[in-house]
Amino acid sequence: MKRLEDYRGIVSDVIITDLHRRASLLHDRHVVHMNSTAQGGGVAEMLYALVPLMNDVGVDAGWRVLVGSDDFFGVTKKFHNGLQGDPVNLTDNKKRLYVQANESFSQYNHISRHDAVIIHDPQPLPIIRFYKKRQPWIWRCHIDLTEPDPGLWEFLKGYIMRYDLMIVSHERYLRPDLTVEQRVINPAIDPLNQKNIALPERTVMRYMKRHHIPLDKPLITQVSRFDKWKDPEGVVEVFKRVREKVDCRLVLAGNMATDDPEGLAIYERVRKRAGSLVASGDIIFLLGASDVAINALQRVSSVVLQKSLREGFGLTVSEAMWKGTPVVAGAVGGIPLQIVDGESGFLVDPTDLEQTADRVVTLLKDPALASAMAEAGVEHVREHFLVTRLLGHWLELLAELTPRR
Ligand code: UDP
Repeated sequence: MKRLEDYRGIVSDVIITDLHRRASLLHDRHVVHMNSTAQGGGVAEMLYALVPLMNDVGVDAGWRVLVGSDDFFGVTKKFHNGLQGDPVNLTDNKKRLYVQANESFSQYNHISRHDAVIIHDPQPLPIIRFYKKRQPWIWRCHIDLTEPDPGLWEFLKGYIMRYDLMIVSHERYLRPDLTVEQRVINPAIDPLNQKNIALPERTVMRYMKRHHIPLDKPLITQVSRFDKWKDPEGVVEVFKRVREKVDCRLVLAGNMATDDPEGLAIYERVRKRAGSLVASGDIIFLLGASDVAINALQRVSSVVLQKSLREGFGLTVSEAMWKGTPVVAGAVGGIPLQIVDGESGFLVDPTDLEQTADRVVTLLKDPALASAMAEAGVEHVREHFLVTRLLGHWLELLAELTPRR
């Protein structure tokens, strides 16, 4: 089991002591997190890090995963896209499917004596309607909310208003049209999980061999769900430009989250776009790789790309930075919180293929610059984006919202 004490040495003693102190005020509080997937995507990643630590410090924290049909996840993916700016055809049928799946889940997902309920993202948002509310309910939205589809937003607002607090990942996502209190909490990575823990060189090599990734040329990598907002097709276009200047390979590592039905179609499109570069071994797809394999890949890559067009936060950016790998990423959503442009990585206009390729080439050609940026990146992540910090935010919030009974 994970222990807060294991993080001593990664973060300072002062931080560990402070977390124990905060937790001592919360002994025996009982909270539950709810989201819609246990596998794939940043929310599950973070809950695996946060929930065991909450328990270790004495908060009784559970995690429940909403069960839904393919149709339900088809609708909620459209809502996800709509919140990030796509137009949504909001039919009565979609609304009904969305709400009914939540009602049905509520019947075998009982909430009674919890001190707080934390709902992640839009999939389980309406479930609040189906309980007698006896405690604070928090909606933790991990999505970029700067330009939601107006009709969809009005519809969802009806549910958001029932909550006591909404939490977003970036100040820019705070909504002036909500009367519900809103706060910002930055996401975080777990430096001790299989995805991020230090790996011996021989393990890294073994994983590359196992996955048939040759290391004869520098690797450029993007690790992401196959999702249009991550723009994997654009990554292929950037790679084509980079390899005109530097001989290298591209690895596209991707998985399919169980609550994201669009992955397969997007994967097929990207593969087509990659064309003969797949057969020649210049573009390598790594599908459904284990956390250790992703860890090894992020370590061994010369540059990690995150060419997102929209991004709630983008844990993959901090993951790569923590491993001392320089990152070139779109200046969108939560990514600029993680990268100081020109200092701890490069921020680019993700629609500008030339600029993105140019930054990658700069890092490939200038190892001294790449390693200076990478070093700055490690410290930036240590200070701001480790799970200990996230735990601190939640302990503080729970102390405020759930006074001792
Ligand atoms: N991920 C993974 N394998 C993959 C693709 C992604 O383990 O093939 C992980 C990635 O390492 C990160 C998470 O999925 O921890 C994605 O989180 P992020 O915040 O970057 O994006 P989201 O998918 O939540 O939009």
